[in-house]
Amino acid sequence: MKKQPMRTCVMCRQKREKRELVRIVRTPEGEIKFDPTGKANGRGCYVCTSEECLSGVKNVSRIARALDTAADAQQLNRVYEEITSYVNQGTKGEK
Ligand SMILES: [Zn+2]
Repeated sequence: MKKQPMRTCVMCRQKREKRELVRIVRTPEGEIKFDPTGKANGRGCYVCTSEECLSGVKNVSRIARALDTAADAQQLNRVYEEITSYVNQGTKGEK
């Protein structure tokens, strides 16, 4: 079995396998985005896909601290929606 890289969720601080988390990135242009590939350029932080931690994505000060940048609520709401639809798609078992 291949060993999975571990990442820490910025909300609950638990270490999990990378594929159990989603990445949020601050692009070099200063935009905050959901990064489904996990490879986008910029400073990233990881959030696990539990409901509690996902709703933390809308917490401006939490994300601002994690990404060391100014965040605005509208932008974070959009990121949150992108992540939740991505996560829900995954649990439906679509391939
Ligand atoms: Zn978490």
